[in-house]
Amino acid sequence: MTEATALLRALAQAEDELHKLSGRLVDIAGEEERLRARLAEADKSFAQRKEEHRKLRLAAQERTAEADATDAKIREYQRKLDHDIVPYKEMEFLREQIQIMRAKLDQLSEEALALMEAVEEDTKKLRENEASYREQRGHLEEELQRLQRRREEINREEESVEARRRELVAQLPTPLRQHYEKLRARIPNPVAYVNGQTCGGCHLRLAEATLLKLQEGREVVTCEHCARFLVLPWG
Ligand SMILES: [Zn+2]
Repeated sequence: MTEATALLRALAQAEDELHKLSGRLVDIAGEEERLRARLAEADKSFAQRKEEHRKLRLAAQERTAEADATDAKIREYQRKLDHDIVPYKEMEFLREQIQIMRAKLDQLSEEALALMEAVEEDTKKLRENEASYREQRGHLEEELQRLQRRREEINREEESVEARRRELVAQLPTPLRQHYEKLRARIPNPVAYVNGQTCGGCHLRLAEATLLKLQEGREVVTCEHCARFLVLPWG
């Protein structure tokens, strides 16, 4: 194996590593997206839960206010009956109204009480829901931070492989380096492994003569289709 071939093999390896690292970055981005969607979902459902509770509380308040208003009205009518001079017909009407309102007040008070109890019960549940929501959110945030650290690690690894790749390129004899740079401007992997009888870069079948030259290993060989440098996956 010539020195140039050894360099090209090392380059193929570096390109391969870079390819894998960028694939992992894509995976991480996908995972982050899924986690963010779960965070948004958790936020949304807890907001709905709080809204439910708010409505229940509001219903209890409204029922209580209604009971209070009915109670005030009964007192007002009663006061009229007790202290004012009212015509007989109106007196009858007021008495009848008081009776109706008392029945209504009983029902309203009962409902208001039941609602207040429900609010109290739901407040406890809401606290539990909030605790598990916070916990879930915490886990998801942690997971996102873990991915963030992983991404930074991969970025550093990428930088170091990229530096190695550039060093290797710098060591190539000038004509090879120029060819490499020309290819690299278009494609991420100017050096391809031979895969059976095909070029690992363009996947086209290689000529017998090309394969033979490769096996002899005396010179640098390029793919006749895509012009990539070719290296054997072994040796
Ligand atoms: Zn090719």
